Amino acid sequence: MSAFLYPLASGSLGNSLLVSAGRTRVLVDMGISRRRLRADLAGAGAAPEDIRAVLLTHTHSDHFSASAAAFCLARRVPVYSAAENLAYLAQCMPDFADLVRAGLARPIDGGPLVLGDLAVEAFPVPHDSAGACLGFRLVLGSGRTRRTAAVATDLGHVPAASLRHFLDCDAVVLESNHDPRMLRESGRPPDLIERIAGPHGHLSNSDCAEAVAGIVGRSRPARLRHVVLAHLSRDCNTPRLALAAQAALARRHCDALRIFAAGQYEAGPAVDL
Ligand SMILES: [Zn+2]
Ligand SMILES: [Zn+2]
Repeated sequence: MSAFLYPLASGSLGNSLLVSAGRTRVLVDMGISRRRLRADLAGAGAAPEDIRAVLLTHTHSDHFSASAAAFCLARRVPVYSAAENLAYLAQCMPDFADLVRAGLARPIDGGPLVLGDLAVEAFPVPHDSAGACLGFRLVLGSGRTRRTAAVATDLGHVPAASLRHFLDCDAVVLESNHDPRMLRESGRPPDLIERIAGPHGHLSNSDCAEAVAGIVGRSRPARLRHVVLAHLSRDCNTPRLALAAQAALARRHCDALRIFAAGQYEAGPAVDL
């Protein structure tokens, strides 16, 4: 069974990740336009018609837009998230209220969710969105071809209770949002800087590197093979800085571990699991 992840867009202007397990294809978040979705999916050999579900991390508009709600309604694609997120979005977006009425807004209520060849477990992460913010542990396929990935793109810190969801994965997609110095010198209002750097904001490059080191250290040796650095700030980070923060780790595991930064404007590359 083929299993891969394919970042479509990552950053504060829009986020979406294609997860493909055998014949099952889902999106984690859809904070991009329908036009962009079709163009980006083509790069992974997929089409909008293939999308079986959207797993929604949280309610910020860079993760789910009115355009996404219209897409899901038109194609009868279910959206799975915490019940409070579904209720909040139904208040804000008429198309989302229609999704609720059509039975296409579906709460994730603790137990694993099975969608074809994919099993999904949601876990809470600390972030300042209305409702709950979720990370996802994904099991792609079963038996000898079973692969595991964990995704968390917006979180102010990584609580010990959350770290366990990232252990013994083939791939981890984790936020590496900002370089603290660039954030401090960004000219942004002090309260915004405080919010971003705070425990319910976004992970810095060094926060991310520390979390990845913890994941590698507590997982089986050479188990983790791919790290995708996600949600890089356009103004307060660069891929070079985000990757540099991971450099010591990469040197120690250079044969086994591939690390790259997902882009805002260009999709891919595919992470083959
Ligand atoms: Zn975001
Ligand atoms: Zn957010």
